[in-house]
Amino acid sequence: RDLAELDARVSVCRACPRLVEWRERVAIEKRRAFAAEPYWGRPVPGWGEEEPRVLIVGLAPAAHGGNRTGRIFTGDRSGDWLFASLHRTGLAKEPYSVRAGDGQRLLGARVLARVRCAPPDNKPTIAERDTCGPWFARELALVIRHVRVIVALGSFAWQNTLPALADLGFAVPRPRPSFAHAAEVELPGPYGTLLLLGSYHPSQQNTFTGKVTEQMLDAVFARARHHAGL
Ligand code: SF4
Repeated sequence: RDLAELDARVSVCRACPRLVEWRERVAIEKRRAFAAEPYWGRPVPGWGEEEPRVLIVGLAPAAHGGNRTGRIFTGDRSGDWLFASLHRTGLAKEPYSVRAGDGQRLLGARVLARVRCAPPDNKPTIAERDTCGPWFARELALVIRHVRVIVALGSFAWQNTLPALADLGFAVPRPRPSFAHAAEVELPGPYGTLLLLGSYHPSQQNTFTGKVTEQMLDAVFARARHHAGL
């Protein structure tokens, strides 16, 4: 099975009733600024290189971001910060990501969310997280042999990526390493040693308060790119 088939299969998933209801309601009601646009309103697949050396893991699509445009981290403030940083550090062709056909391209990188449907308040329940786990695991399994660095955006991504890597045969230390900005863990595994890097999520809450700055994000992605040999 390949990524295109996986994307097709996930795009029709309706396994979480609360999230299906929310993603579709948001897509009908829309935000005023986007009233004239069609909303995607479905699960949002990973996006970027099919053989990535850097994998970037987020939490879930934003209601009026990925849930609107169909591209993860695209069309919301978090994505603006993320793609600008990826561009400054050489991992994205353009400093923005707007919608399909905007000319954006990731360079050696791929972005995906641990949970594929937009949750209310950006908070999936534990049951929703677990229900969506197999989609994440399948995408990870399809690309992992190429990946040298994983950047986890936020503690949710960090905590949920480690067990998925353990399932793929990577040696995850016990107790599990703690999340922090710029935290690094080397994980020996079946395709060589992978570097897991932590980064604060570029959510509006973090960027508004200065918890994460452009310099802090750039430092993580520059480290990722360098380590991946890109
Ligand atoms: Fe399916 Fe995941 Fe969306 Fe739940 S969150 S409906 S498992 S794609």
